[in-house]
Amino acid sequence: MADTADAADAVDVLIVGSGPTGLTLACDLVRRGARVRVIDRRSTPHRESRGKSLHLGSLEIFETLGVADRMTSTGGTGLVFRKYFDGEHINDTPRDGSSVFIGQWQIEEILRDRLAESGVLVEYDAEVEAVGQDAAGAWATLTDGRTLRAAYLAGCDGGGSTVRKMLGIRFDGRTDDEQAMVIGDVTAAGLSRDHWHQWFTSDGGAMMLCPIPGTEVFQLQASPETDHRGERVAPSLESFQRLFDRHARMPGIRLAEVTWASAWRVNVRMADRMRQGRCFLAGDAAHVHPIAGGLGMNTGIQDAATLARVLGAALADPGAEHILETYEAERLPAAAHLLADTSARQARVLAAVREPGRGIEAGLD
Ligand SMILES: Cc1cc2nc3c(=O)[nH]c(=O)nc-3n(C[C@H](O)[C@H](O)[C@H](O)COP(=O)(O)OP(=O)(O)OC[C@H]3O[C@@H](n4cnc5c(N)ncnc54)[C@H](O)[C@@H]3O)c2cc1C
Repeated sequence: MADTADAADAVDVLIVGSGPTGLTLACDLVRRGARVRVIDRRSTPHRESRGKSLHLGSLEIFETLGVADRMTSTGGTGLVFRKYFDGEHINDTPRDGSSVFIGQWQIEEILRDRLAESGVLVEYDAEVEAVGQDAAGAWATLTDGRTLRAAYLAGCDGGGSTVRKMLGIRFDGRTDDEQAMVIGDVTAAGLSRDHWHQWFTSDGGAMMLCPIPGTEVFQLQASPETDHRGERVAPSLESFQRLFDRHARMPGIRLAEVTWASAWRVNVRMADRMRQGRCFLAGDAAHVHPIAGGLGMNTGIQDAATLARVLGAALADPGAEHILETYEAERLPAAAHLLADTSARQARVLAAVREPGRGIEAGLD
């Protein structure tokens, strides 16, 4: 045990990361009577739309946490996919309403509120730089010198997971050198908010604008812009507008208020283990993959629900620690399937959008 660890403050589970995975885990453990602590290196919550579709499996989990109604009343269903090719509107594809469209920051806000109702607040400005464990518990050392101790530790700290690295768990796979997409959140006054607009061009280019319900924001995804030397242009309002003008050909629409701008590379990797003794990995910390199908956040939520069940059982009955083995046995094959499945979905989407009238539904079916 680390010398500086404060055993008096020890909780049952220390959760590193307050994304959708860490927050779901925290809410689910609290409802099972566990004492949790959630820490995050951020100074404040983000407001990025990121994972924007909640699948039925996630809603079932949120039902048990008492937040499904808040998710459905904040989000929207039945968004119509509007497809254009070389600037021409080709067709509309209504969706069946099985997913709820909702910004990731809104999901996180609802989960944080639920957690706060149970008396647990996310602790910000708390960055983990090392983790350790012994027979009695696990601990994390923060960059500010504090050491936090718990019976178990969950690394829900995203694709670059420090917890995973500190545990020496491999993250095998590939990361493409080239940016695949630029992404961001923008407003686009005058553009219909009943449709997920998807513009594709015969040269293989794409731009999509998806309305985030309850906001003025559209999530933008586009093929990156290149400059005269063929170099990728950094995402910005000016670059987003040039891409929009080229793909959408709607001169009256001006993009504005960029609240998030980023670039995305194809990254297909998974951890070779999701448990080491008293420490566990969940969500993007354990698996990253193409976004086709919108499965990343949803899979992290499933990981979290499984881990909460397993840890809840082990905490309730110390004699039942063998149940901890079932987490990795269940979720590692699910992660392997996820990587193969999303790679196949990505290939289907890339092939489909070359045909006028087809769009990202090719990766959802
Ligand atoms: C454009 C886009 C669209 C997407 N669409 C979908 C979709 O439709 N459906 C879907 O399911 N998924 C989607 N995703 C994927 C989804 O955003 C991720 O899978 C999801 O964010 C993973 O959640 P997480 O909680 O595991 O990790 P994260 O959301 O990455 O959260 C990790 C947290 O850990 C904190 N942290 C990191 N390191 C430390 C440290 N050392 N100490 C303390 N805290 C730390 C971070 O600050 C962060 O808050 C999309 C992603 C993008 C970019």
